[in-house]
Amino acid sequence: MNPFEAVKQNTSARQVAEFYGAKVNKNGMCQCPFHNDKTPSMKIDDRFYCFGCNETGDAVDYVSKLFGIGLREAAIKICEDMSLEYDKTTQKTKSVSRPIRPQKSEAQIFAEAQKYIYKVLSDFHGMLKKWKKEYEPRSPDEEFHPRFVEALQEIDRVEYHLDTLLEGDSTDRASLVSEQEKKVVGIAERLKRCKEIQAESFDDDIKTRSYRITRDLER
Ligand SMILES: [Zn+2]
Repeated sequence: MNPFEAVKQNTSARQVAEFYGAKVNKNGMCQCPFHNDKTPSMKIDDRFYCFGCNETGDAVDYVSKLFGIGLREAAIKICEDMSLEYDKTTQKTKSVSRPIRPQKSEAQIFAEAQKYIYKVLSDFHGMLKKWKKEYEPRSPDEEFHPRFVEALQEIDRVEYHLDTLLEGDSTDRASLVSEQEKKVVGIAERLKRCKEIQAESFDDDIKTRSYRITRDLER
């Protein structure tokens, strides 16, 4: 006998509910565990039905819902807890042969890495160009800002890498990818931080401005 049959033949929703703590009154009603029930709204016998939330089902449904487990698990749980005889050999779930996700090929992995590196480097390039403009010394005796220096040093190199990624032959691209893969992660982190800082100062800017507007209006 499989666990479902064992439950069906040997017990009822009422017996099972009582086993797990429900108090059934003489009218065959109990408080519903599936909604916030103040009065006994659940009619329970072989099956259960709640007049409050309309939940319905048999003993296995009751336990499945009560413990948040699957129907088969619920049937087995009832059998185990209430010592009902059932055929344990059928309980083993057949090993389901899952479709094997195709492995990514070397070429795919390489293409993805290349795409990622290109994306990060072109973002970085954009930032360097911005820095070059923003931090350019305004007078000949002004000291160079480190960001301006970095922009001067890096822009050409990054442009060269971007060109290689776009137009280089496969050997050049492969060696660039293996050389830049780790570095680029650092650059990506840095870009993220810079963007966050930028967003924060932008927020501050808005706050200051709205403060000024309110102040001006109050005058
Ligand atoms: Zn209910």
